Amino acid sequence: MINLAGELNGVKSVAIAGHIRPDGDAVGACLGLYHYLKKNYPEIETTVYLEPIPAAFQMLAGVSQICHDFEQEKTYDVFFGLDCSDIKRLGRAAGYCTGAAKTICIDHHISNGGFAQINYIVPEASSTSELVFGILDEEKLPYESAEALYMGIVHDTGVFRHSCTSPETMEIAAKLMRKGINCSKIINHTFYEKTYHQNQILGRALLESILVMDKKVIFSAVRQKDMEFYGVEPSDLDGIVQVLMSTAGVEVAIFIYETAPREYKVSLRSKECVDVSVVAGYFGGGGHVRAAGCAMQGSIYDVVNNITLHIEQQLQKVENLD
Ligand code: AMP
Ligand code: MN
Ligand code: MN
Repeated sequence: MINLAGELNGVKSVAIAGHIRPDGDAVGACLGLYHYLKKNYPEIETTVYLEPIPAAFQMLAGVSQICHDFEQEKTYDVFFGLDCSDIKRLGRAAGYCTGAAKTICIDHHISNGGFAQINYIVPEASSTSELVFGILDEEKLPYESAEALYMGIVHDTGVFRHSCTSPETMEIAAKLMRKGINCSKIINHTFYEKTYHQNQILGRALLESILVMDKKVIFSAVRQKDMEFYGVEPSDLDGIVQVLMSTAGVEVAIFIYETAPREYKVSLRSKECVDVSVVAGYFGGGGHVRAAGCAMQGSIYDVVNNITLHIEQQLQKVENLD
């Protein structure tokens, strides 16, 4: 556990950053800590660095203060790396980490090797937002922090549905609710609501999905030309892998989208017995036991063949145990 007041003693400047292509938890954890520091440590100059965030998160207070310009030659007394398993996944904010006098990492990725001086990594935690809540004083938590942290927890638990949701998660959510935040609005607006085009590409991904490995694995791919056709960006594809995963009888869902010719971003989800962080880790990525990702090169068929090979190895081990 981190003694926040102790770490901030005498500190004049703080930088906060999350992982590249920020998701709900990265944005929630960063803004949650940002608003807390702004309110309780007004004398500290605090800056949040994140890549551009999905439009649905614009409802949160403080998004206009997020800095997307990483060119500034600036060094900080303290750097917080949140929801980020690896210094490379800080993207262009990594320079603020290497340049800071003190670095603190708060994260829940099982693949996190601990890139900071102080590493608070709890793989069992539902989200980094939950861990950030744990280091803050509930009495001093502003409304804006509560909204952001609640959003982070909602996103990483798939609205309190995934197995990472613990009694502790629900207790924290209750405490955040008591700050008077509009929980339904946060859930509906930031998690469930999709644009017309997002739903169109989701439909396309479902239509083109295939079941492989005796229907235990579902796979779908979106090409760059499909994204251009529907006018969507990579962040518009968030959530597709989860819908694939809801297919009855499926143990693993694989969703890939093309980031450059013959280059793919791979998202993996599993239900019960496959550790997808191991599969993603083999291909240079990482994540959690039930949700992980990596980048891969080749044709769509190369990607699916290479990944399913590793899934098969794990499923065979499980069958041998049965
Ligand atoms: P995604 O499928 O992109 O939603 O990612 C699922 C989980 O795996 C998230 O917690 C990500 O932070 C993590 N993850 C995704 N891609 C990578 C990667 N290339 N390296 C490490 N972790 C990743
Ligand atoms: Mn994340
Ligand atoms: Mn997370």
